[in-house]
Amino acid sequence: MSIPQSFIQELLARVDVVDIVGRYVQLKKSGANFMGLCPFHGEKSPSFSVSPSKQFYHCFGCGKNGNAIGFLMEHTGMTFVEAVKATFPFYVLRLLGGLLYLGGMLIMLWNVLMTATSGKATTVTIPAAAAHA
Ligand SMILES: [Zn+2]
Repeated sequence: MSIPQSFIQELLARVDVVDIVGRYVQLKKSGANFMGLCPFHGEKSPSFSVSPSKQFYHCFGCGKNGNAIGFLMEHTGMTFVEAVKATFPFYVLRLLGGLLYLGGMLIMLWNVLMTATSGKATTVTIPAAAAHA
């Protein structure tokens, strides 16, 4: 089975590598990035960095780096397809979060619209209707 490249790109564009790596490695925010103890080599001071903006992890100690799917494969020994499957729930959560946000926006806009029209409808259309009567 092969997974279309476009699907992988969509997946990686939506999920957050910090969410996924954060399930296996305790990460602490450090400036724009997150730092933690590298899961790939033994260390006592954190040199494992995860970048939310680049959606990449990189270890300054052992040089390992990659994206969310690469991390799952490397860290848990999953195959590519398994790693894609494991990433999918994060993708769904992101989409649902986006839908909830959109839903909230729509309700808010609808309320604004209803308030605005119910206020103006009476003052604008009634004199106009009266003028034609
Ligand atoms: Zn390392």
